[in-house]
Amino acid sequence: MDIQSQPLTVLKGVGPRVADKLKKMNLHTVQDVLFHLPFRYQDRTRIQAIGALQPGDQAVIVGKIEVADVVFRRKRNLVCRVSDGTGFITLRFFHFSVAQQTRLQRGNTLQCYGEVRKGQAGLEMVHPEYEVYEGEVEIKAEEELTPVYPTTEGVHQIGIRKLAQQALDHYLEKIHEWLPPEVLAEINLPPLKDAVHGVHRPLSSRDATLLQQGQHPSQQRLAFEELLAHQLSMQQKRAQNQQHRAPDLTAPGRLHKKLLAHLPFSLTGAQQRVIEEVQQDLTHAFPMQRLVQGDVGSGKTLIAAAAAAQAIEAGYQVAVMAPTELLVEQHAQNFQRWFKPLGIDVVLLTGSQAKKFRQSVLDVIASGERKLIIGTHALFQEDVVFHKLGLMIVDEQHRFGVNQRLALREKGGGDNTYPHQLVMTATPIPRTLAQTIYADLNVSVVDELPPGRKPVTTVVIGDNRRAEVVQRVEHACQQGRQAYWVCPLIEESETLQLQTATDTEAALKEALPQLNIGLVHGRMKAADKEKAMARFKRGELDLLVATTVIEVGVDVPNATLMIIENAERLGLSQLHQLRGRVGRGHEDSVCVLMYQTLSELARKRLAVMRETNDGFEVARQDLELRGPGELLGIRQTGMPQFHIADLMRDQALLPAVQKTAGLLQTKYPEHIAPLIRRWVQREQDYGSV
Ligand code: ADP
Ligand code: MG
Repeated sequence: MDIQSQPLTVLKGVGPRVADKLKKMNLHTVQDVLFHLPFRYQDRTRIQAIGALQPGDQAVIVGKIEVADVVFRRKRNLVCRVSDGTGFITLRFFHFSVAQQTRLQRGNTLQCYGEVRKGQAGLEMVHPEYEVYEGEVEIKAEEELTPVYPTTEGVHQIGIRKLAQQALDHYLEKIHEWLPPEVLAEINLPPLKDAVHGVHRPLSSRDATLLQQGQHPSQQRLAFEELLAHQLSMQQKRAQNQQHRAPDLTAPGRLHKKLLAHLPFSLTGAQQRVIEEVQQDLTHAFPMQRLVQGDVGSGKTLIAAAAAAQAIEAGYQVAVMAPTELLVEQHAQNFQRWFKPLGIDVVLLTGSQAKKFRQSVLDVIASGERKLIIGTHALFQEDVVFHKLGLMIVDEQHRFGVNQRLALREKGGGDNTYPHQLVMTATPIPRTLAQTIYADLNVSVVDELPPGRKPVTTVVIGDNRRAEVVQRVEHACQQGRQAYWVCPLIEESETLQLQTATDTEAALKEALPQLNIGLVHGRMKAADKEKAMARFKRGELDLLVATTVIEVGVDVPNATLMIIENAERLGLSQLHQLRGRVGRGHEDSVCVLMYQTLSELARKRLAVMRETNDGFEVARQDLELRGPGELLGIRQTGMPQFHIADLMRDQALLPAVQKTAGLLQTKYPEHIAPLIRRWVQREQDYGSV
């Protein structure tokens, strides 16, 4: 039988009860045990002379039990004295069974491993790992390093280690190699069996060091295969998507032309290119799945509008989804401004709408009376029924789960079709990484900003220079400009000592009595938030104190100064988003990053902000400093969690992974399903990620 389907209970010592516990660690089959890797290794390849031990050593010793006694010192202790001719050491156990007590008997040989410490009567080890042998026997040191595995409650280290040993001894031979020889030769990594053995049983401390650093060929081999399996699985999803039908949104382009004719500017080259890519997709018989990556301010909303115009002209509805009510509000304003002159009205759907009003909104959506629907997560709710949904646009998608996106797809346009999907993100990631993470999507890049944008000057300033910053605000507002003051948290938290937005607002009002100062934060009622934002937009407020709710999308060109408190606590991509709120007009803009204390890492991160305005560069550096999981909020979005691979660490493998995926498609298609099953499917099979 395939070891992939072989339950753990075929292993000795695993009954249903233990199997249940192992399930908690995601171990279901024999193969899972082979892929359950140690997280560190102990060197037990040398038996040390007891006489040479020092406190603090991690050591393997072998000796004869000279005395074994239960003594009372506050609690019952089992104490053994062991000697090997060079010296003696005391072993101390606080918990022990009768069986243990009988085996730890004077005259037996004991091999043990543990940490040496200084006790009352010389050196001792407390609860070492040990093996007892009857009488006097010769014992050899381990030839390989000893693995230390992640464990779970009720399954001990030694238990897991024995399971792994059994799996290696009896089942490793049965594990199938799915990488063709030419691939192995080209990537210059070991065959699967050697790799699995190598990660469980490294031969030298040099191996262990490489493993710990994630640089060992055995580990790279496994990571390579896992990444390959994910790539293949994503490509399969893409192929499956192309099996679905989507509405044909072919349109002569009348609305599109009108839309452009009303704009006070012309499209950038990048916008034009991406719009053409999208227009193409919309005429395919299968659903578009396109991701548009573009820096803040690159004009993605207009790309969305162009797509919407085409879908509406073809007779379909369009849903535009954004992560916050503030953004929904703003999109609604933009779309209304662009589409009203074309005779198309926008309707808004958010979670905070009153019941009766909401029903009227649902009605015009279901009847098809309104074609352009803009909303938050509320669009997912079951009672939202579209008349003919042809296109869904998701803004700032990393905030929505992939699964949510798929759920909306089910609300398709009737006649068994799925709507086309356009996903926009302002967290750009490097190309090779995008090809892996978004292998199921087509990716467009808006790599050009509208003309006339001036880069934002970024300065990093300690909190102790707050007075200067306040002066800067005063100066900017006296010039007729507006400013944002962002405070990352709203709750007073003594331990974190973060400035709250409300306190800050009060303090700033006192310091700058001649300015009109407003406040927005996440806990405010949507209507109050909108009111404050609208006043700021109209220029009635000079200064807007805010939490990070204004992070995405908010567009007020007259705002030229952005102050961010506790900047050291925010991620780079978040800072970049916030900074993107200024530099939207023709005036010079400044972003002031204030900090309380700077760690080495925080200092580096803020320096990145100072040095570049390019979102791709910020993302690249963020990736280097934090890893892709953090950058994309992978945990929230249901992106793949890898068992062994690490996208950041193993980035260098990606080009070869992509090339190999292509080779398998053309030359070894029968290898694809087993690879996916081995690495990706097992999560799905057991419903755990
Ligand atoms: P983002 O890509 O961050 O979503 P927006 O779509 O909000 O960017 O656009 C930012 C600003 O740039 C808006 O005020 C928008 O009207 C303006 N804009 C978009 N495209 C152009 C263009 N081609 N020329 C000039 N301004 C543009
Ligand atoms: Mg936007």
